[in-house]
Amino acid sequence: MKNKMTLSGWGNYPANQAIVERPERFHQLHVDAKNIIARGLGRSYGDAALNTDRDVILMERLNRFLAFDEKTGVLKAEAGTSLEEILETFIPRGWFLPVTPGTKYVTLGGCLAADIHGKNHHVDGTFGAHVNEFELLLANGSKRRCSPKQNPELFWGTVGGMGLTGIITEMALQLIPIETAYMQVQHHFAKNLDAVLAILENKQLDDRYSVAWIDCLSGGENFGRSIVMNAHHAAKKDLPAHISDPYQIKASKKISLPFYFPAWALNSWSVRAFNSLYCKIQKSKTSPFLLDYDRYFYPLDSINHWNRLYGKQGFLQYQFVVPFKTAQEALHVILGEFVKSKRASFLAVLKRFGSESEGFLSFPKEGYTLALDLPISGPELFPFLDHLDNLVLKYEGRGYLAKDARMQPETFRSMYPRFNAWQKIKADVDPEDKFSSDLSRRLRMEGKR
Ligand SMILES: Cc1cc2nc3c(=O)[nH]c(=O)nc-3n(C[C@H](O)[C@H](O)[C@H](O)COP(=O)(O)OP(=O)(O)OC[C@H]3O[C@@H](n4cnc5c(N)ncnc54)[C@H](O)[C@@H]3O)c2cc1C
Repeated sequence: MKNKMTLSGWGNYPANQAIVERPERFHQLHVDAKNIIARGLGRSYGDAALNTDRDVILMERLNRFLAFDEKTGVLKAEAGTSLEEILETFIPRGWFLPVTPGTKYVTLGGCLAADIHGKNHHVDGTFGAHVNEFELLLANGSKRRCSPKQNPELFWGTVGGMGLTGIITEMALQLIPIETAYMQVQHHFAKNLDAVLAILENKQLDDRYSVAWIDCLSGGENFGRSIVMNAHHAAKKDLPAHISDPYQIKASKKISLPFYFPAWALNSWSVRAFNSLYCKIQKSKTSPFLLDYDRYFYPLDSINHWNRLYGKQGFLQYQFVVPFKTAQEALHVILGEFVKSKRASFLAVLKRFGSESEGFLSFPKEGYTLALDLPISGPELFPFLDHLDNLVLKYEGRGYLAKDARMQPETFRSMYPRFNAWQKIKADVDPEDKFSSDLSRRLRMEGKR
């Protein structure tokens, strides 16, 4: 059954009406409509999973586990399965996700289509690197199995392809073994931007998971002050005696933001106060400590609807990556522009990336990525971000499609040099551009031979 529904991404901007279907079984999944896009749990920030006045297929009920090999850790599951469902079922058996974003409320299909990265990108690469194979429902209604060996071009065109090559129906994902559900965490305080880069480059301090919270409002001698949060999975021997089941954690207390905050509540003063307090608390943790996986990987998931903090008008997440060779200057200049603009970003994260994925449109490449949340405020915001895009381009970087809601098509083309090759793959499997979204129309991502 089809219904009209207003949809938005996690940033609540833009919000548009679409014709929505929610199949429960695969035989109900069809591609008859002229324009379709698949949607997971809508955790991309912008317009990637929107299709104004056209069809959107909600994948969330196609979420069954199909097979699990206890020896190898390979899980076969439907593409609408959420990471939360996988964690709850497989952590007690000693297995964890190979790559996870900062929320567990995402689907396997969404993770593959955006080729998401985690805090371990510099060690383990992107999500696509851990997918052995998947099945894709094509525009002509046929299904194709893809792996790095079988239909490799379509495999790497779909990994990071933002749902535009077809609908991912199921996949085989390699899980990783763990001895406990806990993390050994070590914080490092950096007094400024150069200090945080030095820590992130220091092999002796490095760990499997590594990310820095960065204060993006302070200037002067505190410009770029950060807390680097490094971690690895704890071994059984690391747990204190009172933890009898190494795979059991205390459920996090959930709170909910019941309404949208007024736009004025989040301003440079309130965020500055939050940053100072947060920095003080985190800085005081100077020795290694144990934290359960939920609190380390998903701190924001404990606040339902935290996206309402930015008010009804919504927010954008601006995320870019710049290569190592330009990173020092690029981060000084771009973060400097940001500090100067006094825009209040409640969340700002800096991370070192490892090697580039083979995905034609995958975002990560070797270098540094910075992500900043920005409330939608006033007509000068988009020109300011166009200006930042030009700087990112000048420093040979790129922006992330899963976070985007406003980039210009020319900018996108300059940032993604393999786009022309991807267009050929798209034209082969979807000659009439059946799979399209607000994002793909805005960025003119049609297929072309
Ligand atoms: C709090 C938070 C933290 C985050 N942290 C990170 C992070 O650390 N790293 C990172 O990389 N990302 C991060 N993200 C972004 C998020 O991981 C991605 O946007 C992911 O794609 C969302 O998955 P979803 O299932 O909600 O997909 P949706 O947002 O619904 O869709 C995203 C894209 O996937 C496509 N898609 C979904 N399902 C299918 C399918 N079955 N077949 C084909 N295409 C499909 C859609 O068409 C769309 O283009 C974060 C998001 C939030 C809200």
